[in-house]
Amino acid sequence: MGGTFDPIHNGHLVAASEVADAFALDEVIFVPTGEPWHKKPVMSAEHRYLMAVIATAANPRFTVSRVDIDRPGTTYTIDTLTQLSSERPDADLFFISGADAIAQIVAWKDYAKLWTLATFIGVTRPGHKLQLPEAPEASMSLLEVPALAISSSDVRDRISAGKPVWYLVPDGVVQYIGKHKLYRGEN
Ligand code: ATP
Ligand code: MG
Repeated sequence: MGGTFDPIHNGHLVAASEVADAFALDEVIFVPTGEPWHKKPVMSAEHRYLMAVIATAANPRFTVSRVDIDRPGTTYTIDTLTQLSSERPDADLFFISGADAIAQIVAWKDYAKLWTLATFIGVTRPGHKLQLPEAPEASMSLLEVPALAISSSDVRDRISAGKPVWYLVPDGVVQYIGKHKLYRGEN
């Protein structure tokens, strides 16, 4: 599952859990982006990576990969998938992403080759209508997840406004954000 995870929240975790169940996945690898071409993360890659590790630590099927944050330059999904498939040559890869990201998939670098590397799964959330790009049928699936109207932008806005984010993000992540004073507009 790719994302900026700035910060990771319970919407991401529910989506991952639902997809893992529906597609009988052995493992979900959360892959925080390095430098995405379409948006600039607020927090450093290291903070975003560590929050993802804290959020997923208790789940034996969830892991976090550094492939994107350790590869210099702009993050492209084609490079992420190429690297993950060479690290796990026997794995059958699924790329999980939100409906918004899937809709933009045709704008991604080398998108025609993407279908050969993974099955793409678009998860829906409130307010996001699915518009599927043209793709070979076998490489794309959609899944509706329980409506969790949480986004990282909303979490960041709440923190900078001094509002609570308990239960929107995992407890350990709330504590990490507090400890490092993240998203308060000072760093
Ligand atoms: P931002 O508000 O900064 O755009 P985000 O909440 O969308 O952040 P991302 O890190 O961009 O978080 O999310 C990675 C992927 O997870 C995206 O493709 C996004 O659509 C999806 N996603 C985010 N929140 C949810 C949610 N509540 N339910 C289902 N999918 C979600
Ligand atoms: Mg988003």
